[in-house]
Amino acid sequence: MKFWTRREFGGWTGAALLTALHPQVVLSQARAKVVVIGGGIGGTTVARHLAANTRMAAVTLVEPSEHYTTCFFSNLYLAGLRSFQSLTHGYGTLSQRNNVAVVHDSATAIDPAAKTVKLQSGVELPYDRLVVAPGIELRGDVLAGYDDAAMQVMPHAWKAGPQTKLLRRQLRGMEDGGVFLLVVPPDPIRCPPAPYERVSLIASYFRQHKPRAKILILDAKDTFPGQNLFEDAWKRHYPGMVEWLPAQFTGGVEAIDATTRSVKTPGGAFAADVANVIPAQMAGQLAQRTGLTDQSGWCPVDPITFESTLQPDIYLVGDAISAGDMPKSAFAANSQAKACAFAIAASLAGDPPAAPHLFNTCYTFLAPDDAWSNAISFKPIGGTIRTAHLFVSKVEDSVEVRRKNAREAESWYDAFTHDVFG
Ligand SMILES: Cc1cc2nc3c(=O)[nH]c(=O)nc-3n(C[C@H](O)[C@H](O)[C@H](O)COP(=O)(O)OP(=O)(O)OC[C@H]3O[C@@H](n4cnc5c(N)ncnc54)[C@H](O)[C@@H]3O)c2cc1C
Repeated sequence: MKFWTRREFGGWTGAALLTALHPQVVLSQARAKVVVIGGGIGGTTVARHLAANTRMAAVTLVEPSEHYTTCFFSNLYLAGLRSFQSLTHGYGTLSQRNNVAVVHDSATAIDPAAKTVKLQSGVELPYDRLVVAPGIELRGDVLAGYDDAAMQVMPHAWKAGPQTKLLRRQLRGMEDGGVFLLVVPPDPIRCPPAPYERVSLIASYFRQHKPRAKILILDAKDTFPGQNLFEDAWKRHYPGMVEWLPAQFTGGVEAIDATTRSVKTPGGAFAADVANVIPAQMAGQLAQRTGLTDQSGWCPVDPITFESTLQPDIYLVGDAISAGDMPKSAFAANSQAKACAFAIAASLAGDPPAAPHLFNTCYTFLAPDDAWSNAISFKPIGGTIRTAHLFVSKVEDSVEVRRKNAREAESWYDAFTHDVFG
């Protein structure tokens, strides 16, 4: 059995101890109903850790899909380096061993006054505390012509699933000498370095199978995270294959034409053999519909408890929130979720919230045996979340260090998905 230390969980033990020292607290009260919407990384982590660490909550997780496919490591799948199956996880352990009631359904409405969640099936779930973790919505209103039909021709592959498989099929079917075009949207986006990791891994696939192929990146930005590391790797591993065109060069992407598989910019049109269009993003649709977002399109939260600043007793974690300096990553969603689970347990026990320790670690592949990493700790400061300490790999790192990062990334995947799904 694993016990949280105060250092790990910023005081989780307070709530656990209260339950241990005052069993009558539990016995004299019905368990509080905690409903978690969204069985992705953030929601599943809250549900699992809350159910495992306090007896005060009866936890229900609402998620439409019976399986979850991770976006992280999906770039390895696109490059033929991992199977789709290896990215897919179920909810069996959560319901069988962790005492979480898993309901496969979609939440369609929230009534904060009556404290109920309505599901697509018509069922209504009452709650004492609600957690909403719906991830991102891809914006259909920014790129003219990029509608549902266009996505079937020029996939986004930014939510792992059929779109990822479609892009893989297209890459396999592309002729040697063809052009792969990637459209990168403006910030904030899910996993900021991931578009460039995608380019690196697709280039490694091309180097082996289609060495005359070219990759063109049309970026909405003029700089990107890890730029020096990526540009150095593209020169070393894939000389002459990758061209990055920043917004200041093209004027930005204006429209998509799926019939010609081309992308229009003020500086001219670019045609492709395979085009991957990643649209601009905002918080998941449910958060938009239920008044949990502000004018930014993201959900404002208290950085200590992750409670919505717009609706009491509703908590939010993961990509859907405005998290200050924290990136929209699976690691960040997991870290926020543990802090949120602790804050909910503390509030059920009548304890004050404790300032959380928040982290993000990312491994990013440049080639199958070359990866860089970062490790960042964060602190809630002045109503938002700010970087406290930062480590990032260097361009000068040796081949051995880069290989070690790639191996560590594989171990991280196994340990991390075990932490989330059991
Ligand atoms: C190509 C790529 C590579 C990445 N690589 C990394 C990486 O290396 N490391 C890293 O840390 N992160 C990485 N990420 C980012 C990571 O995948 C996300 O940050 C993470 O999944 C966010 O978790 P979340 O819980 O907020 O959202 P999600 O994991 O998307 O989960 C949201 C869930 O909510 C459910 N949902 C939505 N609406 C409803 C509703 N109305 N009712 C019920 N359920 C609902 C959805 O079905 C979904 O299961 C990568 C992302 C991409 C695209």
